[in-house]
Amino acid sequence: MRTPLDDGIKGYRSYGVWLRQKFAGKRVFKVIVDAGFTCPNRDGTKGYGGCSYCNVDSYIPSLPRSLPEIRDQIEQGILRARNHYKAEKFILYFQPNTNTYAPVQQLKALYDEALSVCPEDVVGLSVGTRPDCLDTEKIALLESYSERVEVDLELGMESIHDSTLAQLNRGCPHSELTTLLESLVHSPLKLCLHMIFGFPGESRDMMLDYAREINRFPQVRFVKLHHLHIVQGSILAARYQKEPFPLFDLPGYTDFLCEFLPELNPEIIIQRLFGISDLSLLIAPNWQLSKSSIQAHIDRAIQQRGVIQGSQLQT
Ligand code: SF4
Repeated sequence: MRTPLDDGIKGYRSYGVWLRQKFAGKRVFKVIVDAGFTCPNRDGTKGYGGCSYCNVDSYIPSLPRSLPEIRDQIEQGILRARNHYKAEKFILYFQPNTNTYAPVQQLKALYDEALSVCPEDVVGLSVGTRPDCLDTEKIALLESYSERVEVDLELGMESIHDSTLAQLNRGCPHSELTTLLESLVHSPLKLCLHMIFGFPGESRDMMLDYAREINRFPQVRFVKLHHLHIVQGSILAARYQKEPFPLFDLPGYTDFLCEFLPELNPEIIIQRLFGISDLSLLIAPNWQLSKSSIQAHIDRAIQQRGVIQGSQLQT
């Protein structure tokens, strides 16, 4: 079995390394697009208030928020990434809210417009959504773009435990995700699962079970790992402020990752190891470090402890 070390990295299969290999060493940058969607658990279709941990403003950068037209968001985002990060190629990332929560014709017009901007340098389309907001027509639409660009379908898994999902007001049991994953075994879409560790009531074993569950689906290409943030304006913030509950500190989260990674399929590429929120909205935990310092801390621990993604799995 190939291990992450075959890619010349420290112990997990890193998205940065994968991007460099995939796009011939070019600097690739994700440009966030806010197309103004909502979510079924916000607008009353399934519930109100959204997921209890969520405040969308906590993770949308100011640029897309300030520009109503997606064309302007993409042009400005690309310009900024070229100037600030020397980026050469771009992935359009429909991130905030549920980016397939509209009729398929409307989605087509939106994605077509997005992909018409700077087509020579846009190499990918990444769409964040929920398993209950996809159907065969929407999947076929997304798949149709994979002939031109890489298409990632980012699915909010969050937890694998229905008791947690119900408590979080997700409005979507885990089985909806697994049914969808089963239907996408032969899809050209690159599937990414987004998950959060540290929900109240989840033990360490319950969180380690996420890895065992994900490993059942070899069609999953990417994961995004997050630690729970309490952000202003979320339902969980009100609960936390009334009655604080334990959250991960950086050493504790690092220890957890060092246990989790050996349990995870070593073929899965890790897009993110931890979460980042707008500090002006973050209530807790504030680790008082920059994103790069947190990354360096975790990478150092992984290296020093000899952690290798998938090493606990039977070959
Ligand atoms: S976590 Fe996702 S699905 Fe839930 S309210 Fe926030 S944007 Fe909507």
